[in-house]
Amino acid sequence: MRLIYILIITGILAVAMLWLGKLGVVRKKLAALVACASLLCGGGLLLLAVLPGNSFYGETITSGQVASGKKLVALTFDDGPYPPYTQKLLTVLEEKQVQATFFVVGNNTKQFSEVVCLTASKGHEIALHAGEHKDFLKLSKGELVENISAGKKLLEELTGKPVKYMRPPHGFRDWAVMEAASDFGLKVVNWRVIPRDWTNPGAQVIADRVCKDVAPGAIVLLHDGDAPAQTASREQTIEATSIIIDELLSQGYEFVTVGELLNQ
Ligand SMILES: [Zn+2]
Repeated sequence: MRLIYILIITGILAVAMLWLGKLGVVRKKLAALVACASLLCGGGLLLLAVLPGNSFYGETITSGQVASGKKLVALTFDDGPYPPYTQKLLTVLEEKQVQATFFVVGNNTKQFSEVVCLTASKGHEIALHAGEHKDFLKLSKGELVENISAGKKLLEELTGKPVKYMRPPHGFRDWAVMEAASDFGLKVVNWRVIPRDWTNPGAQVIADRVCKDVAPGAIVLLHDGDAPAQTASREQTIEATSIIIDELLSQGYEFVTVGELLNQ
C-alpha cells in the first residue's frame, strides 16, 4: 500500500465530511470529528514516514548495538559521487585511516563511475542511496522498483560486491519502499546523528553538532554530494569530517563502516 493513496483518501474524506456537515446531511459535530480524525490519521502516517528513527513501516536502522562496550561510530556520506569533493573527502579519510560508508546515487555514478571505484578501492563501503535521487513516496510501485533495481545493479557491476544497505532519499519510506528494499535484499539504514551539513553552517558548527549528539553505535549522516542539484560546495563537510575524526578519536571512538557496525 502506498502512503500517498492513504493521504489522498484521508484528505478527500475530511473535505467531504466538512461539506456534508455544511449541507446538513451529517451533523456538524460528527462531520468535524470524522474530518479531524481523518486528517490526524493521514498526518500521523506521514510523520512516521519522514521521521528517520522509527520502524513503523519496517525495520529502519539508525544505530548499531554495541554490546561489547566499544565506542563504535559509523560515518556515512550521501548524494555522491560528486567531484572534486568526494575525492577530497577520500584523502582526508585516508590520512586519518578511517573507513566510512557512501550511500551513492546511480545517476551520479554513471557520470563519475571512476570515483565510486576509487572509493571502493580505498576499502570504504558502497551502499545505495537511489538509482535516481527522487522522493520515493511519490513514485509508483513500478518506478520505485526500477529506481532501486537500476541503482543496485549498477553499483554491483562496478564494484563486484553485493550492495546490502539502502538509504532512501531524505530517509522517506512507506510500506512499499520497505517491501521493495526487502525484495532486493537491502536493509534500510537511516541515521542517529544529523548535523544538517548541507546547509553549510560552518565546519566547526557541523563538527560540534556531531560531537554533541554522538553516542556509541551511532550512524552519522553527512554529505559528500548535493543531489540532485549538484551545485553546492562540500568543503565545510570535508573540513568538519577532519575535526570530527580527531575529536572522536580523542574520546576513544573507533570508526567503522555500517556493515562492520551491524555485524560485529
Ligand atoms: Zn540524498
